[in-house]
Amino acid sequence: MIQEPQDELTQEQPEKVTLSDEEWRRRLSPEEYQVLRGHGTERAFSGCFVGTHEPGTYVCAGCGNPLFRSGEKFESGTGWPSFTQPVSEHAVAQHRDGSYGMSRTEVRCARCDGHLGHVFPDGPPPTGLRYCMNSVALRHLPDAPRPP
Ligand SMILES: [Zn+2]
Repeated sequence: MIQEPQDELTQEQPEKVTLSDEEWRRRLSPEEYQVLRGHGTERAFSGCFVGTHEPGTYVCAGCGNPLFRSGEKFESGTGWPSFTQPVSEHAVAQHRDGSYGMSRTEVRCARCDGHLGHVFPDGPPPTGLRYCMNSVALRHLPDAPRPP
Protein backbone atom coordinates (compact mmCIF):
# COMPACT_ATOMS: atom_id res chain seq x y z
CA MET A 1 0.00 0.00 0.00
CA ILE A 2 0.96 3.62 -0.40
CA GLN A 3 2.39 4.91 2.86
CA GLU A 4 3.39 8.50 2.30
CA PRO A 5 1.02 11.31 1.30
CA GLN A 6 0.60 11.99 -2.39
CA ASP A 7 2.95 14.56 -3.82
CA GLU A 8 1.61 17.73 -5.39
CA LEU A 9 0.27 16.90 -8.81
CA THR A 10 1.43 20.21 -10.18
CA GLN A 11 5.08 19.27 -10.41
CA GLU A 12 6.11 18.25 -13.90
CA GLN A 13 8.89 15.81 -13.14
CA PRO A 14 7.91 13.33 -10.45
CA GLU A 15 10.32 13.00 -7.56
CA LYS A 16 12.05 9.63 -7.69
CA VAL A 17 11.13 6.89 -5.25
CA THR A 18 14.08 4.60 -4.56
CA LEU A 19 13.63 1.66 -2.22
CA SER A 20 15.70 -1.43 -1.54
CA ASP A 21 14.52 -4.80 -2.80
CA GLU A 22 13.66 -5.73 0.78
CA GLU A 23 11.51 -2.62 1.18
CA TRP A 24 9.69 -3.33 -2.06
CA ARG A 25 8.98 -6.89 -0.95
CA ARG A 26 7.45 -5.57 2.27
CA ARG A 27 5.46 -2.88 0.50
CA LEU A 28 4.00 -4.88 -2.38
CA SER A 29 1.92 -8.00 -2.61
CA PRO A 30 3.69 -10.99 -4.23
CA GLU A 31 1.72 -10.37 -7.45
CA GLU A 32 2.58 -6.67 -7.48
CA TYR A 33 6.21 -7.40 -6.74
CA GLN A 34 6.42 -9.95 -9.53
CA VAL A 35 5.23 -7.40 -12.12
CA LEU A 36 6.60 -4.08 -10.82
CA ARG A 37 10.01 -5.23 -9.64
CA GLY A 38 10.35 -8.58 -11.44
CA HIS A 39 9.18 -7.32 -14.84
CA GLY A 40 6.56 -10.03 -14.94
CA THR A 41 3.32 -10.07 -16.88
CA GLU A 42 0.00 -11.09 -15.38
CA ARG A 43 -2.03 -13.66 -17.28
CA ALA A 44 -4.30 -12.19 -19.97
CA PHE A 45 -7.84 -11.52 -18.74
CA SER A 46 -6.75 -12.14 -15.14
CA GLY A 47 -6.45 -8.45 -14.25
CA CYS A 48 -9.11 -6.59 -12.30
CA PHE A 49 -9.18 -3.61 -14.70
CA VAL A 50 -10.00 -5.48 -17.92
CA GLY A 51 -13.34 -4.21 -19.18
CA THR A 52 -13.83 -1.56 -16.50
CA HIS A 53 -14.80 2.04 -17.29
CA GLU A 54 -15.05 3.71 -13.89
CA PRO A 55 -14.12 7.42 -14.16
CA GLY A 56 -10.91 8.21 -12.37
CA THR A 57 -7.16 8.11 -12.42
CA TYR A 58 -4.95 5.05 -12.54
CA VAL A 59 -1.91 5.45 -10.31
CA CYS A 60 1.19 3.33 -9.85
CA ALA A 61 0.60 0.51 -7.34
CA GLY A 62 4.16 0.94 -6.15
CA CYS A 63 4.38 4.65 -5.43
CA GLY A 64 1.04 6.35 -6.22
CA ASN A 65 2.33 8.28 -9.23
CA PRO A 66 -0.66 9.25 -11.46
CA LEU A 67 -0.22 7.38 -14.75
CA PHE A 68 -3.40 7.16 -16.83
CA ARG A 69 -6.86 8.70 -16.97
CA SER A 70 -9.94 6.55 -17.42
CA GLY A 71 -10.84 8.64 -20.49
CA GLU A 72 -7.83 7.28 -22.35
CA LYS A 73 -8.68 3.67 -21.52
CA PHE A 74 -10.00 1.47 -24.31
CA GLU A 75 -10.85 -2.16 -24.89
CA SER A 76 -8.01 -3.67 -26.89
CA GLY A 77 -9.27 -7.24 -26.63
CA THR A 78 -5.83 -8.36 -25.49
CA GLY A 79 -6.86 -9.13 -21.93
CA TRP A 80 -4.82 -6.32 -20.41
CA PRO A 81 -6.02 -2.79 -19.56
CA SER A 82 -5.00 -0.54 -22.45
CA PHE A 83 -4.62 3.21 -22.79
CA THR A 84 -3.89 5.56 -25.69
CA GLN A 85 -1.65 7.89 -23.64
CA PRO A 86 -0.36 8.57 -20.13
CA VAL A 87 -1.44 11.59 -18.07
CA SER A 88 1.76 13.32 -19.12
CA GLU A 89 4.97 12.48 -20.91
CA HIS A 90 6.73 12.71 -17.55
CA ALA A 91 4.53 10.12 -15.87
CA VAL A 92 6.16 7.13 -17.53
CA ALA A 93 9.59 6.23 -18.87
CA GLN A 94 10.16 4.08 -21.91
CA HIS A 95 12.94 1.55 -22.34
CA ARG A 96 13.90 -0.75 -25.18
CA ASP A 97 13.11 -4.34 -24.30
CA GLY A 98 14.68 -7.09 -26.40
CA SER A 99 13.60 -10.00 -24.20
CA TYR A 100 11.87 -13.09 -25.59
CA GLY A 101 13.37 -12.40 -29.01
CA MET A 102 10.98 -9.49 -29.54
CA SER A 103 11.72 -5.81 -29.99
CA ARG A 104 9.31 -4.08 -27.66
CA THR A 105 9.16 -0.83 -25.75
CA GLU A 106 8.85 -1.32 -22.02
CA VAL A 107 6.88 1.23 -19.99
CA ARG A 108 7.98 1.98 -16.45
CA CYS A 109 6.73 4.35 -13.80
CA ALA A 110 8.92 7.44 -14.01
CA ARG A 111 8.80 7.87 -10.26
CA CYS A 112 9.73 4.44 -8.85
CA ASP A 113 11.02 2.74 -12.01
CA GLY A 114 8.43 0.00 -11.56
CA HIS A 115 7.59 -2.12 -14.60
CA LEU A 116 4.07 -1.38 -15.85
CA GLY A 117 3.81 -3.05 -19.24
CA HIS A 118 4.64 -2.24 -22.85
CA VAL A 119 3.58 0.28 -25.49
CA PHE A 120 2.77 -0.81 -29.04
CA PRO A 121 2.20 1.29 -32.19
CA ASP A 122 -1.14 -0.34 -33.03
CA GLY A 123 -3.54 1.68 -30.89
CA PRO A 124 -6.57 3.75 -31.87
CA PRO A 125 -6.63 7.52 -32.54
CA PRO A 126 -5.63 10.07 -31.47
CA THR A 127 -2.19 8.71 -30.63
CA GLY A 128 -2.12 5.39 -32.48
CA LEU A 129 -0.49 3.95 -29.40
CA ARG A 130 -1.55 1.09 -27.16
CA TYR A 131 -0.20 1.25 -23.64
CA CYS A 132 -0.68 -2.38 -22.61
CA MET A 133 -0.58 -2.40 -18.81
CA ASN A 134 -0.74 -4.94 -16.02
CA SER A 135 -3.72 -4.46 -13.72
CA VAL A 136 -1.70 -5.33 -10.62
CA ALA A 137 0.73 -2.50 -11.40
CA LEU A 138 -2.14 0.00 -11.22
CA ARG A 139 -4.59 1.27 -8.66
CA HIS A 140 -7.76 3.12 -9.57
CA LEU A 141 -8.65 6.34 -7.77
CA PRO A 142 -12.29 7.32 -8.47
CA ASP A 143 -12.95 10.92 -9.45
CA ALA A 144 -15.74 11.45 -6.96
CA PRO A 145 -17.91 9.38 -4.64
CA ARG A 146 -20.75 7.61 -6.38
CA PRO A 147 -24.24 9.04 -5.79
CA PRO A 148 -26.22 7.02 -3.25
ZN1 LIG B 1 5.68 4.09 -9.36
